[in-house]
Amino acid sequence: MFSYRHAFHAGNHADVLKHTVLIAALQHLLQKDAALTVVDTHAGAGLYRLDGDYATTSAESTDGVLRLAAAAATLAPALQDYLDMVRAFNQGNSLRVYPGSPFIVQRLLREHDKLKLFELHPTDTRSLAANVAQLDAGRQVAVLHEDGFEGTRKFLPPPARRALLLCDPSYEIKSDYGRVQDLLDEGLRRFATGVYAIWYPIIPRPEAHDLPRRLKALAHKAGKPWLHATLTVKSSKIPSAASEGRRPGLPASGMFLVNPPYPLQAALKACLPQMVELLGQDRNAAHTLETGG
Ligand code: SAM
Repeated sequence: MFSYRHAFHAGNHADVLKHTVLIAALQHLLQKDAALTVVDTHAGAGLYRLDGDYATTSAESTDGVLRLAAAAATLAPALQDYLDMVRAFNQGNSLRVYPGSPFIVQRLLREHDKLKLFELHPTDTRSLAANVAQLDAGRQVAVLHEDGFEGTRKFLPPPARRALLLCDPSYEIKSDYGRVQDLLDEGLRRFATGVYAIWYPIIPRPEAHDLPRRLKALAHKAGKPWLHATLTVKSSKIPSAASEGRRPGLPASGMFLVNPPYPLQAALKACLPQMVELLGQDRNAAHTLETGG
């Protein structure tokens, strides 16, 4: 456990998908005056250097956010909002800093909204707490060095009965897949009207393959609408000659939302094909977008 550090992956294609969806969902939820609570069950360090040792080791942002930044095409509105958000943490044209979900969310929140951040890795928790301290956000943002699956319970339902829960585990242990399902199951029982946004990797392992089907079943059982978006940038099969000495990298990922804000589907319909075009690495690049409930 704990070999995963998000700094190696910050700004990759999975972050582009996850953070584009997160921003589009929040923008809609924040149109209502009533206070919103955002719970980030797996927060990471909050801010990442794209020119630091971690990021350059794998340079995943080169095939992610940096491709968008270099694109000549006019971006679809949700993708442009995402890129504008990343640019807001940088000066000038080059992107050196990447905001993780805690910083993206905090920048969008209003004074009366709340942000609860769970992180279990001791080093990342220290970095997150130090980064958050610089925001001077006072009691708006809470950093909790606790298990996010367990700790989330105490915030559901939130006092103002409006919340978005982002569940973004590293899935480095197999049990994460089951714990995500349990979290959604219990979450929907405690707080049926919450917006639940779950990221997952699309990799050749049975638990990952089964997860969206199981999440759909939970949404269906609760009688709640759902949205499922996936982005594939390359084949999951790496030719053996090319793989020598290289880590293959994540080929695809998905975002599954229960109670998705209504305009999200149209926003994603406009930008997913562009993500495929700009982030695709081979002819297997593709997207899917489905809704139900
Ligand atoms: N949500 C972040 C973002 O979008 O910027 C990235 C999070 S990263 C994919 C997953 C994080 O979860 C890692 O920093 C890892 O240390 C942390 N983690 C792993 N297990 C955890 C648990 N049970 N509770 C809370 N955090 C955990």
